[in-house]
Amino acid sequence: MRKKIIAGNWKMNTNMQEALALASEVIHIAQDEVPSSVTLIMSTPFIYLNTIKKLISEGKNIYVGAQNCHTETSGAFTGEISAPMLQSIGIEYVIVGHSERREYFQENNAQLAKKVDLLISYGMIPIFCCGESLDIRKAGTHLEFVKNQLTESLFHLSAQDFEKIVIAYEPIWAIGTGETASSAQAQEMHQALRNHIADKYTKIVADKISILYGGSMKPNNAAELLAEADVDGGLIGGASLKSREFIDIAKSYPG
Ligand code: PEP
Repeated sequence: MRKKIIAGNWKMNTNMQEALALASEVIHIAQDEVPSSVTLIMSTPFIYLNTIKKLISEGKNIYVGAQNCHTETSGAFTGEISAPMLQSIGIEYVIVGHSERREYFQENNAQLAKKVDLLISYGMIPIFCCGESLDIRKAGTHLEFVKNQLTESLFHLSAQDFEKIVIAYEPIWAIGTGETASSAQAQEMHQALRNHIADKYTKIVADKISILYGGSMKPNNAAELLAEADVDGGLIGGASLKSREFIDIAKSYPG
């Protein structure tokens, strides 16, 4: 059984008061409504991580996650946050390679490979984002493009380390646009990625990897997406800023 994961990406939103209120609501409602088989992650801005982490009681399947880390462990990189810093406050999940980081901060596959290595070496779980632009999808080369993102950033890992990765497929044209990939489009990509992983690492390894879908996932489309055989969860932007919507998505698994 693969891990079911619903991860919120708060991006650069909320002030401290709003962040505390949102996290408290999610924790409170999740306790009554979200089955313990679903892992919930709130990827908050760095400055709230430590405070929000303390709101979560031991043993709950809820985590705070970071949205990025630097490629180096320390040094003269003003304004940056490193993997060992995140580890030192007990962070377990870190998003890497979100398309906004790739676009606005020119992050490339080679840098992301370095971040993934660092996170694994410090005992954290990278949520590795991949996904194609609309132009690439229109050109019909999306499957090859996204498979190559995995090859270049992840396929240097040993099978043992690869099993620690969570993958988030996020078509760029669906992020924050209100336009979701259809469940068939998501399944096609997720299955292609799982086969790609199987070709490299064996089917046994591929079958263990949680592949999340991200891109305008909302309560009204989550059930259909999560019903697909290779869609194991969601990476949620906008809807993760509303506790009710975030929780409703986490309640949308079939059965
Ligand atoms: C995201 O930014 O990872 C995302 C999926 O955003 P949204 O849900 O708002 O499309």
